[in-house]
Amino acid sequence: MQRLAVAESEEQQFILSNLPPSPAQKRLALGIVIGLATALYLVVGPFGGQQLGASYSFVAIYTTAMFVTDLITAILLFAQFSILRSRAILVIASGYLFTALLIVPYVIAFPGALAPGGLAGGLQTTAHLYLIWHCGFPLFIIGYALLKDDESFGLTPQGKIGEEILFSVSMTAAAAGAVTIWCMNGGALLPDIMLDQSRFVPNWLRVVGAPIAFLCIVALVVLWRRRRSILDLFLLVVLCAYLIEIPPHYFPYPARFSTGWYAVRVTSLLSSSIVLVVLLYEITALYGALLAAVLRQRHEREARLMTGDAIAATVAHEVRQPLTAIVTSADAGLRFLDRALPNLDRAKEAFTRIASDGHRAGAIIENIRTNLRPDESNRTNVELNALIREALDLESSDLRKHRTTVQLELHAGLPDVRANQVQLRQVVLNLIVNAVDAMSSSDGPRVLSVKTALHDGNQVLVSVTDSGSGIRSMDGDRVFDPLFTTKSDGMGMGLSICRSIVEAHNGRLWFTPNTPHGVVFQFTLHSSNSAPAPA
Ligand code: ADP
Repeated sequence: MQRLAVAESEEQQFILSNLPPSPAQKRLALGIVIGLATALYLVVGPFGGQQLGASYSFVAIYTTAMFVTDLITAILLFAQFSILRSRAILVIASGYLFTALLIVPYVIAFPGALAPGGLAGGLQTTAHLYLIWHCGFPLFIIGYALLKDDESFGLTPQGKIGEEILFSVSMTAAAAGAVTIWCMNGGALLPDIMLDQSRFVPNWLRVVGAPIAFLCIVALVVLWRRRRSILDLFLLVVLCAYLIEIPPHYFPYPARFSTGWYAVRVTSLLSSSIVLVVLLYEITALYGALLAAVLRQRHEREARLMTGDAIAATVAHEVRQPLTAIVTSADAGLRFLDRALPNLDRAKEAFTRIASDGHRAGAIIENIRTNLRPDESNRTNVELNALIREALDLESSDLRKHRTTVQLELHAGLPDVRANQVQLRQVVLNLIVNAVDAMSSSDGPRVLSVKTALHDGNQVLVSVTDSGSGIRSMDGDRVFDPLFTTKSDGMGMGLSICRSIVEAHNGRLWFTPNTPHGVVFQFTLHSSNSAPAPA
């Protein structure tokens, strides 16, 4: 239940009617209001009184555009309601639907638009419809503002969303129908607004301007006090636009088809599109966010798979060497037993080697996790010279097989290092195995040289030098990358593991070319008396 609530609130964070506006959005809203007012008054100021003559195609185009934008806005808001289930959204969606529906009788009744005297209604019909449309919309906004934070009004239950949308649409259509019938039949009780087909009554400001302005101001105040979301912000902008549009209707005299009248039509088309544009922007932004989230998820999955691959490869790589040794010793042990006169001593040696290699494999597996997370409890004082000898011993059969000469220059009195012994042995073993591999195809002398020395006073330096094929300069940057290998049977994990182990011990691992052939791999570690805390 709690998880559902969290998911719901996360989902609502993406919705315009819940998201708080950013400072940039607030600046944009203010800019729109100032821009609309400036544009309108710049046009109306000097030319307001000019009669431009009736353009019925303009009326048809402007009303059609208003109808389409209001209808689409209503549909998108109904869609938001179906996600958020807040009845306040249902109210504002119905408000947009109401204005869209009133535009239809408005254009039908507009004298000259579809028929010389209007297709239906009388002289006052369009003006009455305009009055109700412009008073109705702020009323819907007041309703929205009052309901939006009212918990007691509650959320629509999930199963009733369709039902409530249908109910609202029907009620809004019924209200618009009733208003239409009322206005088409003379609009009893409504004041006369038109003197003739183009002139408004002289008291237009009182009978039309004042009620619209009053309701817009009330709606502005109510919504301002409860403003919270981006939707609230842009509804405030729409209300401001409604207010700004009032003076140019009657200034300097009230009439249709004046410059002011046309300018107001254009700005009201713009203001009616504001919420639509914001909704569309939000939808596009949501698609963008969704796409980014899907891509992020895919990358994460790939990264997880990569990590999985890497861990699998690490296990395979690290355990292969002791396993190979176990199989070799087991074969040898069996051969010693298979003889007519079994050589029990040699067989015993082979089985002892098997047991110790088995323990080593177990220790390696245990330590793979520690490769990634250093843990002080696994660290002991390690004598590096002894560890190197041990590693060479483990590789002795391979060294013999590849006729490799080993040169040891181990610094006497080398201080211990504080390290994970198993991990450090893996590092030395890896470097030796790589050196042997690199020299295996060389016809010249195969010399493996392992040195230890003091470095920078309190550090220990280990060098593993070979006379092998060397590393091509183009591969230089990649040899430490996981899964990079030039060997047909390589895993490409050895050096990457070595580097992470050495770095986890606050050391450094690098290589330089050897002259005339081969490579020198070197790593440094802090001596145990100077070792910093684990990385
Ligand atoms: P793998 O040994 O499985 O290929 P490593 O990470 O240990 O993985 O090595 C990566 C690559 O680095 C090797 O495939 C090889 O090309 C190169 N490399 C490592 N050590 C040496 C070396 N001593 N001489 C030449 N090339 C080397």
